[in-house]
Amino acid sequence: MEVREIEKLFENIPRFRVGFYPTPFHQLNNLSKKYGVNLFMKREDLSGPSTFGGNKIRKLEFIIGDALNKGIDYIVSTGGYQSNSAMELAQVCRIAGIEPILYLYDTISQGLPEEYRGNLLLDKIMGVEINYIPKEEGLSTSSEEFYHRIVDACETRTEQMKKEGYKVEHVPSGCAYGNGFLSHVFTFTEMLKQAEAYGKKLDYVFHTTGTGGTLPGLIAGKLLTGADTKIMSMAINPYRPGLVCSKEVVVERVQYIFNTLKVECPDYDTIYREIHIDEDFIGADYGVPSDVGTAAIKEVAREEAVFIDSVYTGKGFAGMLDYIKTGKVPKGSNIAFVHTGGTGALFAERRLVGEVTED
Ligand SMILES: *Cc1c(COP(=O)(O)O)cnc(C)c1O
Repeated sequence: MEVREIEKLFENIPRFRVGFYPTPFHQLNNLSKKYGVNLFMKREDLSGPSTFGGNKIRKLEFIIGDALNKGIDYIVSTGGYQSNSAMELAQVCRIAGIEPILYLYDTISQGLPEEYRGNLLLDKIMGVEINYIPKEEGLSTSSEEFYHRIVDACETRTEQMKKEGYKVEHVPSGCAYGNGFLSHVFTFTEMLKQAEAYGKKLDYVFHTTGTGGTLPGLIAGKLLTGADTKIMSMAINPYRPGLVCSKEVVVERVQYIFNTLKVECPDYDTIYREIHIDEDFIGADYGVPSDVGTAAIKEVAREEAVFIDSVYTGKGFAGMLDYIKTGKVPKGSNIAFVHTGGTGALFAERRLVGEVTED
């Protein structure tokens, strides 16, 4: 299907426009030369509306579009203390006149935050209600037990407010929700056109996958356009049934996109074959900086003056570099890395940011 036809399918889908789209796309010349590939970057971090954008803004245009149609007054959501998703949700809610309520959890057993920094500072500047969920030492944020504790806190609050007569919606972590899944079809179609302007066809798209809200749109974009591009997803949390996301859930979300756009859906196996999730770059745990991630943050800043982050894009970029260095991705390939954001979290505490200033 042509990109123009795909855009037409979205005409009647509610959308509250706040981002700056298409987001920029440019070649990373120094890293391309260094590694013998054509490496591009898709700048979802520059999605707007503030300096601190990210991949949740696209999803939120559709989520908030629906919420406004339903007359929602409050949105309850969650993430780590330094959550990009929660901060981006707060931004779009503020513009839409919906009141955000955040349940933010501890990722590294630090107790309550001692001061407001990074995204938490931005949440506070926006005057958002924040509820903290601490965790005990040794309990992984990737565990089922912790995940359910967070979901329960949000659900309980949502139900309680509904009983009080408010129109409330619970948007799960990462804004992996509803028509938000449709949004990253555009990230893919924009990149196709932008690569074409460079005279290139993309062989690979690398990105960092978390709650699995971005990946389904990228896969659907690929299947709708019939492009010959491999979507490579570097995970920052494990993908298993019962956890925050799984491959099976990714397939269901791709099916949801096709059904919502009223396009005949490819069969289960065709979709499943497009999923390439690599869990080798998670490091010690979600939110804990990894050595290769920290090295990638420095390398990208020193070669290209682009800032990536320790929780997501640093680990994802490190994964991509490994694929290039080990020849899993052949020399001369045309590759796009989706910079999904996270810059705000760079200004958090050192133990969350990693040793980025050493040497
Ligand atoms: C949320 C997030 C991701 C992961 O995207 P999902 O849609 O949750 O899979 C990647 N990078 C950054 C910076 C994020 O904030």
